[in-house]
Amino acid sequence: MKPNFQKIIEEISREVLPLLGLGKVANYIPELAKIDPRKIGISICDIDGNVYSTGDCKTLFSIQSISKLFTLCLAMKLEDNELWNRVGMEPSGTAFNSLVLLEEENGIPRNPFINAGAIVITDIILGKSKHPSDSILKFMREITQNKNIKFNDTVAVSERKHGHRNAALSYLMKDYGNIHKEVEEVLNLYCRHCSLELNCEDLARASYFLINQGKDIDGKTVLIPRDVKRVNSLMMTSGLYNNAGKFAFEVGLPAKSGVGGGIVGVLPGQFSISVWSPELNESGNSLIGMKVMEMFTTKSGMSVF
Ligand code: GLU
Repeated sequence: MKPNFQKIIEEISREVLPLLGLGKVANYIPELAKIDPRKIGISICDIDGNVYSTGDCKTLFSIQSISKLFTLCLAMKLEDNELWNRVGMEPSGTAFNSLVLLEEENGIPRNPFINAGAIVITDIILGKSKHPSDSILKFMREITQNKNIKFNDTVAVSERKHGHRNAALSYLMKDYGNIHKEVEEVLNLYCRHCSLELNCEDLARASYFLINQGKDIDGKTVLIPRDVKRVNSLMMTSGLYNNAGKFAFEVGLPAKSGVGGGIVGVLPGQFSISVWSPELNESGNSLIGMKVMEMFTTKSGMSVF
């Protein structure tokens, strides 16, 4: 019998309340520091398209690195061959914005979910699309089935002003020939897609094609099954930065997090789940978000393992 998703997430929402105050809201992007830290939203979209939600599930938040999941999917649609010569598929074991491995490995980022990898993906989209910002927005609106999805340019500009590390990563990769467009142009688009605002329900819906072999709720193909397998595998091994091992151990779902406090996870054939709680742990992942995911797979008895 299918577990009662609504009852489980309501129970979890109450049980995680004592954890409020234990993490810290991201402040290296000044605009993000303004968020109310006490928000908690959870949404699930099951394979039949039913959505179950609690708490702040309708409040928009900055998806930040979760956008890397969707830009990767878009880039895979636009560029099939060259992509995997320019970005690897191994976990990095370093922080999301680390420069350390990049020089040792000749400007080829370990995977598309660390900042360096996502910046190469942004460069690929720039090279393949005439109107790259519009292509990203169109893709996001299609997969969320929400025409109101927007970038938050105040957040994008705030990150652009302070994102010196991302600039350093980009110039280093440019020197190795792994950034083809102008660095400034790539960084502007990267910060823009990181500033996308979705709510938990949008995010659970947006990931539906990853639980349905690449098809959206209307049966339209978003990604071919081979690429869904690849994206979900990358989420499993690299979706939570330095907590990827801990997350696999405790939760057992492919997932992607962002410093805005969101996490989205998928169980192919069953459900996608999104959580938003802005206070982060020391690895930059939502502290309550990770706990919610662990409690959910434990209580429901449903994980990839
Ligand atoms: N825009 C953020 C950065 O590049 C994304 C990081 C994240 O969400 O983990 O620093």
